[in-house]
Amino acid sequence: MLVRENIPLSRLTTFKVGGTARYVAECASVSDVKDALAFAAEKGVSWAVLGEGSNVLAPDEGYSGLILHMRIPGIEHDSETGALVAGAGVIWDQLVTQAGLRGLWGIENLAGIPGTVGAAPVQNIGAYGSELKDTFLYADVLDAHTGTVERLIKEDCAFGYRESMFKRERNLIILSVALLLAEDGGPKISYKDLQARKDAGAPLTTPREIAAVVRDVRSYKFPDLSVYGTAGSFFKNPVISKEAFALLKERFPEIPNFETEKGIKIPLAWILDHVLNLRSYRMNHASLFERQPLVLVTEDGATRNDVEQLATYVKEEVLRATNISIEREVQSFA
Ligand code: NAP
Repeated sequence: MLVRENIPLSRLTTFKVGGTARYVAECASVSDVKDALAFAAEKGVSWAVLGEGSNVLAPDEGYSGLILHMRIPGIEHDSETGALVAGAGVIWDQLVTQAGLRGLWGIENLAGIPGTVGAAPVQNIGAYGSELKDTFLYADVLDAHTGTVERLIKEDCAFGYRESMFKRERNLIILSVALLLAEDGGPKISYKDLQARKDAGAPLTTPREIAAVVRDVRSYKFPDLSVYGTAGSFFKNPVISKEAFALLKERFPEIPNFETEKGIKIPLAWILDHVLNLRSYRMNHASLFERQPLVLVTEDGATRNDVEQLATYVKEEVLRATNISIEREVQSFA
């Protein structure tokens, strides 16, 4: 296991902000992960896991502990369960590509989401009507408290909308994820962006074709990570009660809405755009992305503080204007 010292967190996270991490351990195997935990214990420092760093906001003051930089590779077919099993360090979109090449259905709508396979269950990534939990079979995790490797099935993980038990149980380090994908699935293209592509004649009949179209839609709507600092959608889309929605609809008759098991889901981008007029709104070196205001972006010289100030302002404005208390999707790891 390689341990590097004093590495800028801005290089380890897609927001491209943050001070220096004291130690960074490259973890390419389960034994590397165990060695890294032993290293942190020996140095008496805390630890945190990072994959691609695409959903975290790093502290400006840096991190005095050890980052476990998850690199476990490998994509295999598990003949016993029929699942496709990937190491936690595999880039998520490469797994989507592999599934497409094998003609397997289930994760094609999740194409182009940045991050690693190990990070995918943590927030139960979702897009265009699919969520990770729909195909999740199990994850092998190392419990840092006990040092044992355990297999967790879907029912253990408390998956919800961009939610899972992994957000709370930080002692569980995901090592690999198994997905049960189907050979005989079919397209899920109810979302307007995909429907519009279909109406325009795009081929959407195989997992590979759908993944390609999803990537194309995303590449227009979401910022290019090589140009902007960002962690994608900064806030979750709120789900509110039917009563609260009825009041909102009286004031904003055009408000889009979707019924879910837990209530009415409202696209927050619509509120930011049409109620608050915050599209492209800027504070210091952070702003709301012009093509999708739910996405916060940073430019050179940005600090976490810039992002925090903008995010706090947005949250307060949404509460003031709609009485909805929004939650962050992006995590703080320290
Ligand atoms: P969009 O397609 O404009 O949709 C905006 C909102 O409306 C989302 O809350 C979406 O729900 C909901 N919605 C739209 N059509 C719907 C339908 N037919 N049935 C039910 N709900 C519907 O969103 P976007 O910003 O361009 O993003 C595209 C997709 O990528 C969305 O699914 C979004 O959630 C997803 N995304 C995920 C992440 C992540 O996992 N971190 C980050 C960025 C974007 P859902 O949110 O339930 O889809």
